[in-house]
Parts: sequence; structure tokens; C-alpha cells
Amino acid sequence: MLATAIVEKNAYDVALENFDLAANALDLEDNIRTMIKYPERILSVSVPVRMDSGKVVRFEGYRVQHSTLRGPAKGGIRYHPNVTVDEVKALATWMTWKCAVVNIPFGGGKGGVTCNPKALSLGELERLTRRYASSILPLIGPEKDIPAPDVYTTPQIMAWIMDTYSMNKGYPVHGVVTGKPISLGGSLGRNEATGRGVFYTTVSSCRHLGISVEGARVVVQGFGNAGSIAAQLFHAAGTKVLAVNDTRGCICNLKGLDIPAVIAFKNRTGSVVGFPGADSIKQEELLALECEILVPAALENAITVENAHTIHARIVSEAANGPVTPEADRILDQNGVFLIPDILCNAGGVTVSYFEWVQDENHLFWDEQDVNNRLEKVMTRAFQDVLKIHLDRKVNMRLAANMLGVSRVADASRVRGLYP
Ligand code: GLU
Repeated sequence: MLATAIVEKNAYDVALENFDLAANALDLEDNIRTMIKYPERILSVSVPVRMDSGKVVRFEGYRVQHSTLRGPAKGGIRYHPNVTVDEVKALATWMTWKCAVVNIPFGGGKGGVTCNPKALSLGELERLTRRYASSILPLIGPEKDIPAPDVYTTPQIMAWIMDTYSMNKGYPVHGVVTGKPISLGGSLGRNEATGRGVFYTTVSSCRHLGISVEGARVVVQGFGNAGSIAAQLFHAAGTKVLAVNDTRGCICNLKGLDIPAVIAFKNRTGSVVGFPGADSIKQEELLALECEILVPAALENAITVENAHTIHARIVSEAANGPVTPEADRILDQNGVFLIPDILCNAGGVTVSYFEWVQDENHLFWDEQDVNNRLEKVMTRAFQDVLKIHLDRKVNMRLAANMLGVSRVADASRVRGLYP
């Protein structure tokens, strides 16, 4: 049937397409495009794991370094059944532009293991993590490539990676991963940083558009680390969070959900579904709710050509990486939606990862207020930098952010030159 023939591009094609748009808008010379567009290194690893049953199961893992032009490769590790090498390449590419947009001295990287962590016991998860970490060990290190959490990876998983790396080196190396537990050199505020950055950039957008944050209606799609923390901050700021969802379903209360209670409920039961005092709705309905702020905080391709025209939000805050496809971007644009692109909106996580790495390398730790103040400063400046390009060049916010990121990496490439 024709209707089902609409095929969304894979994430890496989206990343390349958005790079070309930015490079064209910047009139970037061909030689620089050739040098900065593609991943520098791609490692594919086989990860055999002894399951609790005694059977050995093989998983596939990847680590991609897209760029080390501005500093060590930086980016999370994703554990998810849909991880592919192309997805990891896309996510690594986005990390390069993201670190450049917030102007931290890192390049971009990403890792992933194709697995369903929800189906693994704690012991299986630890063995998988340690074997994967051993396999990517030649690539990582505090001066060359620094992993962090991403979808379904946690501070505990970072601690196992740090331990595996350190045991192989023979001495403790805290700066090899970020997003670690506080007891192991993690930074205060890192766990909340992605949601906090989403909140800061959304508040800046509200100010720019003349929308009052207090009383604004918010919808959050995805209730993991980024989505739940952002929802909590929006709730505390006096907005009405109308609806949230997780993989099991969506809940809605047009009078506003009591977010701390929803979080407590999810911690107790494993899902937001069944939260008392809320209606159950479908994901299509959640995305189409009348609201000021829609926060896609789950995975890629949440908003596509098929549902973009149903979006009624004034602002779309991309807490997830790549939740809106290029075709959907064009529809949101035509409909006057103000989009805060992922590489700006969710850059709070990697920004505090940078702070964590700085603290680890200096063996000197900051209090939480200090971390949050510095984060707010970085996010607000990055927002203003992107907004200026958006207004001066009359381009949408996605293109403006990509232009900023790509131009900073291009500058680094130009002055470094081509080796040999
Ligand atoms: N996974 C997060 C992201 O996509 C954080 C990466 C990091 O802290 O290095 O930005």
C-alpha cells in the first residue's frame, strides 16, 4: 500500500543531511567538508556474555569517534535492542556539533550495545559491560575518548567501566568516564544536568517568545532521566505538566499532573501507567495535545512526516537526540513552531560531564550550586549564540545550531591543517 511506503531516513542519513544544510549555509569550502563530515574511527566488537543459565550469548557493540578536532571524543553509551552502527554513527556526529555549540573542548563520540537491558539480571549486565569495556579499551581514555551514560545506561554501569579500565591500567583512572556515582568522582548535579539544560533553554525560549513560564502547559514524551527531571523542574516552576508517558503507556490530567508523585509512583511500580487521578491516552493523542511546550525525551523519530501536522505546541524542546525528522522539521517550521534543537537543548548533560572530567583531572570538587550556576551560564550563552544566528541569518533554530557547531569545528580543522 502506498500509505505505508513512506520510509523515514535512518538516523545517520539525517545527520549527514543536516550537516550538508549547515555547510551550504556557511558556504564551507569542500576540503574542510571532506575533513570534518565523517567519523574518524569506527570500532565494531563482538561481546560474548555468560548468562545466568550457563549459556553464552553474543551481543554486538560499537564505539564511534566522529571527531577529535576540538578535544577528546565525548559521548554516551546506549544499551537498546534497536542499536545499529548507523545509529551510533549518527549519535557520535551529533555529539561533535553539540560539544561545539556549548563550546566545551571535546569532540564527538558514541557507543552502543544491541541488547535489551531490561531482560538482563544485574550480574549479566555487569559481565556484558565489563566485556564491552575491555573490547573498546584501546580506544578510550581521559585524553582520547570519554564515555558517559545514554539511553538505559546508568552511573553503576559507568563505575564498572571505570573499574575495568583501571584494573587493566593498574591504577585508578577516574576521568575515563563521566556520569559516575558521586562516591567514585562523579559530579554533583550530573544526574539532573540534561533535564536542567532542557529547562534553561526552554525558559530562554519562553522569554524570547513572550510566553509566561508560570501557568504554561507542558507535555513530556518519554520519562527516563532527561524527561522526568525536566518535568520535575517545569512542575516546580509553576507550569502545568499535562501528560507524560513511558514505554508502557501515556497518562494525562488536563489540570496538571503532580510530578513528584508520578516519579514516586514510577519508582515504586516501574511505570507511570496506573497513576491515580490521570487518564490513559494514546501516544498520538499525547503528541497532539494543545500546549505551549512539547518535550520529546525518548528516542529518534518520535515526530515524523506522519504526525508533525498534529503538533499544537508553540515550543518543541528536543530533550532526546534526533526526535524530529527533517521532513517533520519543515512541517513544524511552516506551522510556526519554535524548535530548540537537540544539540542545544540536551547539551546540559555533556556540559556537566565536562565539569566532572575537569574536577576528576584536578582532584578538586565543586558544590552543587556551583555546578548548576556554571551550567546555567553555559546553556544561556549557547542559546543566545544560536538565537543570534537564527535572527541575523533568518534560518530556523536547527540550522542555526548546526551552523554554529559546524563552523567551530571547521575553524579548528582549518588551523590544525591536514596531517601529514
Ligand atoms: N548521552 C548524553 C548525550 O547524548 C551525554 C553524553 C556525555 O555526557 O558525554 O548528550
